[in-house]
Amino acid sequence: MAKIPINIQSGEIQKNSETIIGIDLGTTNSLVAHIVDGQPVAVKGKDGKSTLVPSIVHFTEDGRILVGEAAREKLISDPQNTIYSVKRLMGKSYGDVNEFEQYFGYKIIDEDTDSLVKIRVGNRFYTPIELSAEILKELKRRIEKELDATVSKAVITVPAYFNDAQRQATRDAGKLAGLDVLRIVNEPTAASLSYGLNKDQSESQTIAVYDLGGGTFDISILQIQDGIFEVLATNGDTFLGGDDLDRAIVDHWTKTTENAKTFSQSLRLLAEEAKKTLSSKDHFSKDLDGQNYSLSRQDFEQLIKPLLDKTLEACKNALQDAKLESAQIDHIVMVGGSTRVPLVKKSVADFFGKAVYDKLNPDEVVALGAGIQADVLAGNQKDILLLDVTPLSLGIETVGGLMDVIISRNSKVPSKAGRQYTTSVDGQANLKVGVYQGERDLVEHNRKLGEFILRGIPPMPAGLPKIEIQFILNADGILLVKAKELRSNVEQEIEIRSQYGLSEEDMGRMLLESIQNAEGDMKIRALLEARNEAQNILLSSEKFLKQNESIISEEEMTQTKALVEALQKSVAGEDKDAINKAMDDLNTYTSPLAHRAMDFNIAEAMKGKKI
Ligand code: ADP
Ligand code: MG
Repeated sequence: MAKIPINIQSGEIQKNSETIIGIDLGTTNSLVAHIVDGQPVAVKGKDGKSTLVPSIVHFTEDGRILVGEAAREKLISDPQNTIYSVKRLMGKSYGDVNEFEQYFGYKIIDEDTDSLVKIRVGNRFYTPIELSAEILKELKRRIEKELDATVSKAVITVPAYFNDAQRQATRDAGKLAGLDVLRIVNEPTAASLSYGLNKDQSESQTIAVYDLGGGTFDISILQIQDGIFEVLATNGDTFLGGDDLDRAIVDHWTKTTENAKTFSQSLRLLAEEAKKTLSSKDHFSKDLDGQNYSLSRQDFEQLIKPLLDKTLEACKNALQDAKLESAQIDHIVMVGGSTRVPLVKKSVADFFGKAVYDKLNPDEVVALGAGIQADVLAGNQKDILLLDVTPLSLGIETVGGLMDVIISRNSKVPSKAGRQYTTSVDGQANLKVGVYQGERDLVEHNRKLGEFILRGIPPMPAGLPKIEIQFILNADGILLVKAKELRSNVEQEIEIRSQYGLSEEDMGRMLLESIQNAEGDMKIRALLEARNEAQNILLSSEKFLKQNESIISEEEMTQTKALVEALQKSVAGEDKDAINKAMDDLNTYTSPLAHRAMDFNIAEAMKGKKI
């Protein structure tokens, strides 16, 4: 929570004198921005050249840590000790990333598939959080030099699809770098802020943010209404970006140039140079080790066409998820260095049938938007509310392993919801609350986010305690779960920091499975529900027979016991219809007995009453 200082004498809110900075912590490049004369500005390094800090960390032999351009130079000479793309590993377990391991030039540790990944450098192990913190420290140093003042508060952006583990990891990285992270903001939201798309508060606007970076592609569909941002849909490809455009050029040269240096890093760098040159010129030509490499824009466009088609396919899917036609998109925002490629702009404009927003530097827009949001939090701008949606349902485990959804998928964030539960056993003192994320009916198919035990419930018959479970999902998508027994006020709460993250591939898979398995799940659910109900009936029948022995005939007792036995037998089986029938039979038979017992008990009670 940001604290708001109030001037005690005047009663006015004081302006925050400390600058809050905006940070784009990117996969390929990171930047820091702040507000100068009311305008967001990305800060350059001491060489005055670039605002981009390559998201690369290098560990030198003598134990120093280099970040950015200096680290990038070591990618070729010392790849083992040079870590890039660490953002891909944030909040992930080894199990989440092992299939992509060959993609990383460094060592990822696989001690336990369920715990967070670590990266081995020499004899030390680093978490992605620590490595990201090094990048953040570099950005912090950069802006502190610029301002000649210390900075301790920041807004950091993350992709819209980041789950709570990934957001939490980002926040933790900030903390490690000495930054109090006031807000985590979605990258497409930040980009829209840069273009001032929130300013037109007259009516609702729908925005597509097309972000083609170094190694990832994201398309997000946002809706802005009354200054509130809502993510309608996200789609993309986590392994498609500028690197692939470079690779296409390398492959082309390898095929068409005699003696091409196929596997050399220098050829890859030359390809990137060619790509960038072709963004503003029609032809590229250069010698490398006595060999000429050339490429025309036309040939380049031919090479990358299939890759761009893939991004447009993702746009189609995102529109479909948002239930929108391309013509319903009001504005298209271009984000990411790779959108400098003219064919990218043209393809996207053609796809949506509209000119795209591309006036701002595409590799700076996210940071600039983070700077604006920081300024808003500092109290310098009229408040802009940011709303997102949660991508997967959140709920708890109930009897029989069923998932009971408390906050459903696509709910707005922040959001709060609660529900009442009770105990299933007499005198139950503890209640375990298991928190899950996912769309399936059984918790075993969903992802466990955490659990806690509500202890010290006073002894009461089953069904009597009133236990309220509350889910509070804050603006950063971090979940707080509270349980309270309302009769005794016994309370317990946890903040869910899930143990390991969920990749968007996982997320897609879980959603797909939930659709594919819906029928099977429903059958199992019906069976479990029938079993639960039967267990309750069996318990109460047993109690009833014990308490009312005196008024039930021997024959009635035998008959009831036979029906109880039949029910027990059906519960052990898999047939929900059989269970339901056995329950009905037992209920039908015992219902008159229960009435008789009730009348008898009332009469007894009246007898004892003094008039
Ligand atoms: P990320 O968001 O993944 O950190 P960026 O938005 O900084 O990445 O994009 C980096 C990518 O942009 C790199 O692949 C780089 O080659 C590419 N890029 C930068 N400038 C240009 C340009 N002028 N033309 C084409 N691609 C460019
Ligand atoms: Mg980016």
